[in-house]
Amino acid sequence: MEYVIKTNDLTKRYGDKTVVDRVSISIKKGEIYGLIGKNGAGKTTLMKILLGLTEPDSGEITLFGTTSLGKARKRIGALVETPSLYKNETALENMRRFAILSHTTDEGIRGLLRFVGLENTGRKKVREFSLGMRQRLGIAIAMLGGPELLILDEPVNGLDPEGIKEIRDVILELNARGITFLVSSHLLDELGRIATSWGIMSGGVLREELTARELDERCRSALKVTVDRPDDAEKLLLDRFPDIRIVKNGDTVRIFTSVLDPSEINRVLVSGGISVSELTSESMGHESFFIERMGK
Ligand code: ADP
Repeated sequence: MEYVIKTNDLTKRYGDKTVVDRVSISIKKGEIYGLIGKNGAGKTTLMKILLGLTEPDSGEITLFGTTSLGKARKRIGALVETPSLYKNETALENMRRFAILSHTTDEGIRGLLRFVGLENTGRKKVREFSLGMRQRLGIAIAMLGGPELLILDEPVNGLDPEGIKEIRDVILELNARGITFLVSSHLLDELGRIATSWGIMSGGVLREELTARELDERCRSALKVTVDRPDDAEKLLLDRFPDIRIVKNGDTVRIFTSVLDPSEINRVLVSGGISVSELTSESMGHESFFIERMGK
């Protein structure tokens, strides 16, 4: 497995407060990793440590499989906190300033602006940009130098639904081109539809790390099947899976399990001569799952 970020027991204290507390995070190449946690959970500090903007007190970092961080960090682009843009200049002029370091040509700059949907802003000054446009310009700037990993801190914070969708689309498109993302948010909804993995932080601690698929499985509280003979179905299922709990209601049977595969249930029922007219997963909702873990 190829990891772009791996940390071991990363810890950062401010005074006597531990704001990043023994965090061991693993982010695979190609992922959109959603780092979720309330304000003050330690997300920004963790990102700053990864970027070398602040030093950890202890712990190890491996980036792109190496502990030679200086070199590895050149492969990372970042938008952490509000980008310092030149407000009296256009998008192109701003990009040119930042492009000096990476020797990006005007053609390259225009390509990036097109990517984030700012190619038609012409002579419009950045001070006239909406927050969403500024964020997208920030992402374009972070893309200078062709990074393989983008670290975005709360990129949709304060944006309206349309602005959120635009950022999401940019992330998806760049991800399709092979860029890995570490994106933080204090709201689940904003990332919900695009994250492929999740890290849940609270009080400086990485409470849990799971893939989007694991999240779906964990949230699946029950399978609901509609059958012709509920009593026989119950008996059959309990014989086969003694650990599950079953609640019947008319011709529907609810199976409480977080581990069984729906197709397995279906197979057992059908091979036992039961006719299954419907089989659906009932979910507790991702929201409740996260809220439970993010703490108050
Ligand atoms: P998040 O990004 O999840 O909102 P932060 O990493 O910004 O969390 O902050 C985590 C905690 O660290 C907060 O309690 C914050 O007040 C504190 N903190 C962050 N930066 C500093 C700093 N430079 N000095 C002192 N405390 C800080």
